[in-house]
Amino acid sequence: MALYRTEAVVLRTYNLGEADKILTLFTKNRGKVRATARGSRRPRNHLMGVSQVFTHGSFLIFRGKNLDSVSQGTIIDAWLYLREDLIKMAYASYLVELVDRFTEEYDPNEGVYLLLVGVFNYLRKDGLERRLARYFELNFLRLIGLAPQLENCASCNGEISVDGALRFSPQEGGVLCPRCRQTRSDTLPLSVGTYQAMRWIAACDVDRLSVLQILEDTEKEMEEILRNFINFHLERPLKSLEFLYTIRGTS
Ligand SMILES: [Zn+2]
Repeated sequence: MALYRTEAVVLRTYNLGEADKILTLFTKNRGKVRATARGSRRPRNHLMGVSQVFTHGSFLIFRGKNLDSVSQGTIIDAWLYLREDLIKMAYASYLVELVDRFTEEYDPNEGVYLLLVGVFNYLRKDGLERRLARYFELNFLRLIGLAPQLENCASCNGEISVDGALRFSPQEGGVLCPRCRQTRSDTLPLSVGTYQAMRWIAACDVDRLSVLQILEDTEKEMEEILRNFINFHLERPLKSLEFLYTIRGTS
């Protein structure tokens, strides 16, 4: 049985038996890994703290035949604000579900790991949750090879002119030129402001997010477009969104 050490974020946990958990981890260099944490539901167990959802930790793991098993774990950051603030918790739940649903086990993607840790870190700031979610979506989709096409027409690769209302097609995977938008009925409205904000967020550094002025309508439209785009790639809806809309009081 091989042993490996890795940093990871806990995406989700399932109870197993009386005192154990199965952790779904997103590791720095092995991608998503499922591992048992024996005894981690017992008070004062050495794996209890590191076996909580969202925890960023350093793990020593046995590579098992079927399931890996956590031998040791130390907390790097427990992100207490993700547990104490319901809005932050709801957004963090959405991000970990996105990662869980779109990734396969043992498919390394260090970029996704760094993005998740980086955005969890920035969620410390108040009021940026919504646009951090958009930043995460746009970068995450790019890192897993599903970036929405925003430069040229997603259907014919023709030029996009921003002198009128645009349309976005989840099926085609991006923005459509005036000619292609006439041939499709399954598209969403995309205002020029939203189009420009999406391109800006997709390309900016995370610490520049707070300087961008975004209108409420733009935030809403951007969220709607990315939600449709993400849903198009999933067989069933994301559970965490229901929680997020309940906490936020809007869909
Ligand atoms: Zn076109």
